[in-house]
Amino acid sequence: MRLTVIGTGYLGATHAICMAVMGHEVLGVDVDTSKIEKLASGQVPFFEPGLPELLTKALDSGRLRFTTSFAEAGDFGDVHFICVGTPQQADSEAADLTYVDAAVTMLAPCLRRRALVVGKSTVPVGTAARLAGLLRELAPAGNEAELAWNPEFLREGFAVDDTMRPDRLVLGVTSAWAEERLRDAFEPVLAQGVPVKVTDLQTAELVKVAANSFLATKISYINAMAEICEATGADVHDLAEALAYDDRIGGRFLRPGLGFGGGCLPKDIRAFAHRAEELGVGQAVGFLREIDGINRRRRARTVDLVVEICGGDVAGKRVAALGAAFKPNSDDIRDAPALDVAERLRAAGATVVVYDPAALESARRAHPGLEYSTSALDAARGADVVVLLTEWNEFREIAPSAMAAVVRHRKIVDGRHALDPAGWRAAGWEYRALGRPTVA
Ligand code: NAD
Repeated sequence: MRLTVIGTGYLGATHAICMAVMGHEVLGVDVDTSKIEKLASGQVPFFEPGLPELLTKALDSGRLRFTTSFAEAGDFGDVHFICVGTPQQADSEAADLTYVDAAVTMLAPCLRRRALVVGKSTVPVGTAARLAGLLRELAPAGNEAELAWNPEFLREGFAVDDTMRPDRLVLGVTSAWAEERLRDAFEPVLAQGVPVKVTDLQTAELVKVAANSFLATKISYINAMAEICEATGADVHDLAEALAYDDRIGGRFLRPGLGFGGGCLPKDIRAFAHRAEELGVGQAVGFLREIDGINRRRRARTVDLVVEICGGDVAGKRVAALGAAFKPNSDDIRDAPALDVAERLRAAGATVVVYDPAALESARRAHPGLEYSTSALDAARGADVVVLLTEWNEFREIAPSAMAAVVRHRKIVDGRHALDPAGWRAAGWEYRALGRPTVA
């Protein structure tokens, strides 16, 4: 089966590479020439563990190629996966659907035989039905092209495993033919016994935003508890651990801290709330605005805590910021809480020196006003306060005594509840984390 993958960013590049490794002939398509050139020459344009090795393997097999030509894509593919971005609109909470519309508009007239076009991007419910109409309208006369929806659940940092061995496959289809095509495309995945849910287009679209809303809710729930702990002297870390023993609740996504960011959760919950309002059922998910509000407050509260530990003012202070990516094992800095906090501290007059194991280059480009170092210890040299903002394992392994030797003051704010307070305090550090009691 010959597949195209339209949009070769985090999702599309991973999908294209993994599908080729699983045995399909794959053509990756993007409007970004430099991205296509990089991928074609064997370079993954972003950090994702395990993906560069698989790209080499797929290119060597001769089953993976890249192009910027939609004509070539139309000639080539039996199934076309749409993986383009759906960011938040600049002036509203709604999703910007320009790119998915453009992808279908560019592909449809180029289709040369009956093809299945499969949306993987995260979209507001109702988008697939509209795109199905657009596809019918723009495909050459007599071509019975069909649209299906197959939402994607991969996590950056685990993208290869999540693609090769997903928790589940959701196939939104309107015909047995479309289901059969998708089952063929995912045969190597289904052969492993991965559960599959076949449903209609609108349910498939909703599964993705419902899942992300649930995850965001769990994170903001424990962070709401952290706010209560801050007001009472209780310890949210112990609280979360005690809650997690209840297997109806579970411990995953129940880690208090700086909250969520990235290119998905924040924009997805906003777009969902916005879409529900358009549909006249805004009240049903009105709580998502609270979830967003709790999440945004974590960033402000983290800045407040840094100011507090510095004696009420960070002007002229040197801050070591450990982390820039929105989460560990990624170089993605879209809506990264770490960089938001770093910029707010800079705006308050601090000199902020950032270190991140993978995201330094993208952070440097997007935030030229911050300073950068190539190691955690270097960033901490002469610091008045160290702030942990992304929970890379590398930071968990820092010896408090080694860092103590280079800083100006032994003060640390653990924005991700990633460190052992006892160990840091024993090495003479003032350790603070939101929702955890202060020890004199
Ligand atoms: P991204 O910005 O990394 O990649 C999008 C790509 O689409 C870019 O390379 C861009 O050049 C390309 N593009 C834009 N318009 C195009 C067009 N008309 N034709 C061809 N290519 C075009 O975004 P991403 O993180 O890969 O996300 C893509 C979609 O997948 C979004 O809807 C996102 O919500 C969803 N998603 C992302 C993840 C994730 O972890 N990144 C996980 C699940 C779902």
